[in-house]
Amino acid sequence: MDLDFGIGNKILDFWSMAGIYIHIPFCRQACHYCNFYFTTSPARRDELVAAIIREVEFTGGYLDGETIETIYFGGGTPTMLAAGQLGQILEAIYKAYPDARLRELTIEANPDDLTADKIAELNELRTLGLDRLSIGVQSFREADLIYMNRAHNAPEALSAIERVQAAGFQNLTIDLIYGTPTMSDEAWRDNIRQAIALGIPHISSYALTVEPKTYLDKNIRTGRVVPVDEIQSSRQFDILMEEMSANGYDQYEISNFALPGHHAIHNTNYWRGKKYLGLGPSAHSYDGTSRRWNVANNNTYIKSISEGKLPYEVEYLTTAQRANEYIMTSLRTMWGCDLSRPEVSAFRAEIVGSLQDTDASFYIMEGNIVRLTQAGRHYADRMASDLFVDEP
Ligand code: SF4
Repeated sequence: MDLDFGIGNKILDFWSMAGIYIHIPFCRQACHYCNFYFTTSPARRDELVAAIIREVEFTGGYLDGETIETIYFGGGTPTMLAAGQLGQILEAIYKAYPDARLRELTIEANPDDLTADKIAELNELRTLGLDRLSIGVQSFREADLIYMNRAHNAPEALSAIERVQAAGFQNLTIDLIYGTPTMSDEAWRDNIRQAIALGIPHISSYALTVEPKTYLDKNIRTGRVVPVDEIQSSRQFDILMEEMSANGYDQYEISNFALPGHHAIHNTNYWRGKKYLGLGPSAHSYDGTSRRWNVANNNTYIKSISEGKLPYEVEYLTTAQRANEYIMTSLRTMWGCDLSRPEVSAFRAEIVGSLQDTDASFYIMEGNIVRLTQAGRHYADRMASDLFVDEP
């Protein structure tokens, strides 16, 4: 395994890579908007780590000889595992993929987790390739954090960032959420400026959405909290784009902003249709022709792996499904949807025909490339579905 750092910037060179995602489904507390698979019970952590390591061994052939260039620990809250456990998973991956040429290794962490001791542990993982932290800040304001039921408070959001930076982690990304009813437009602008002032080189920012069966959904329906206002969200999305652009960040994907040289390689890999292997409960994988997803249940996952069975369901994508996935993800990026790409080239005439029926202020077409304008970015999902193609 070759640890090849410091070049996570020239992403256009990296189209032939593959990535590994590891889902660690433990959280300290349930955020009210969250619909990821996680549990607040810390039980069976050791068994889960052992099962993931066995899954690495079972899935060695999945990526069919592709070079592994990115690894991403997400969740859940991966830092709820000890660094030693994360290290064991990494060792297993490097053993199974001795030709890996690692260019980015990210671990998600929450501010309340980033104590001095935890940061010291994470520092030890640098020798195994860790070079990027993704911190779930969501807001620097107490009222928003309470509304979302985050486990950290406002001072912790700030101090966690200062601590990791002081420990030498400069390659950081943070998540920020807008559209919470507790946040005025001015407060949102202050939140963004706070992140920029801290020198965070990459920011992922999402509108608060009310997913079915979440606490937020229930609390809104029972009148316990104020509902989310889509008009406010839309205004705050414009504020976000304005502030990030004014401060030199590329909006390289609708929800992702980076200073030059800090685009996320792993996530860009997803959006460019590259292959990836997902490990752990609920993790998804893609091999270029099919998608599969592991069972979203710790107990079932551990039991199945212990019996030597991979607990996944699989879907083989048709030509039209592959085209539609490409349309959906590529339109969200600054590179746009390239109609000469193999996924969509056979559908070019159909897509161009559909474009003529959409609002011309929402997109720009240059040669084979279709990109969304700032106005169009508000309607990216609708634009994509308008361009979806039918089975030949
Ligand atoms: S920490 Fe992340 S994964 Fe866990 S409940 Fe909150 S949003 Fe969901």
